[in-house]
Amino acid sequence: MKPDEIDTKILEALMEDGRASLRKIARTTSLTTPTVSARMARMTKAGLIKKFVPILSVDSSNRGVSALVNLGIDPKSAERTARDLAKLKEVQSVYLTTGQSMTLKVALYGVQELQSFLKRNVLGRPDAKVTSIQVITAVVKEEPASLVPKTLTIDLKCDYCREEVTLTRPYTIVAGSSRYYFCCRTCKRAYLDKYGSRLASIGRTEEPKLTLHS
Ligand SMILES: [Zn+2]
Repeated sequence: MKPDEIDTKILEALMEDGRASLRKIARTTSLTTPTVSARMARMTKAGLIKKFVPILSVDSSNRGVSALVNLGIDPKSAERTARDLAKLKEVQSVYLTTGQSMTLKVALYGVQELQSFLKRNVLGRPDAKVTSIQVITAVVKEEPASLVPKTLTIDLKCDYCREEVTLTRPYTIVAGSSRYYFCCRTCKRAYLDKYGSRLASIGRTEEPKLTLHS
């Protein structure tokens, strides 16, 4: 399912200000707050919105030194190598690039740690060779581009059968702070038959008639 114009509007507002209240987003997007809330819940559940994190100012974070480490890699094991290196806490970004290369952006407390970081984690790996290292001397801009990609997809799975939910108005159940989505009425009924009493105990409420299509 592709995010529609409404999703895109909400994402744009959130990328501008991730802490904006529902009411504020509703106001800037000319949508109702229940619509904004339902759409955000759906995009979060579908994993489209991963998390909200603060962007620290580069000047005040004083995190020491950042460097770009370029590696020549074996294309056969590129993804495994990338996943491995991505787990390191010093690694801020991992890019696979053309020319069988990978670039790591690493953050360290000081330049002297660069050698030991490389020795510990990179040198000696059979699947990656350091080709160059650049220590970053000034950061002019470092933010996610606040551009909503055109090719986003909402991969929302039915909470009963796990098939993709393709309806613009999916069948939903709201209970407590959770929201469940179903591809069809049959799945929703089956889910209620199975878990209805548990849902009732966490405060199942009837979904207000939502303007998912406002
Ligand atoms: Zn289903």
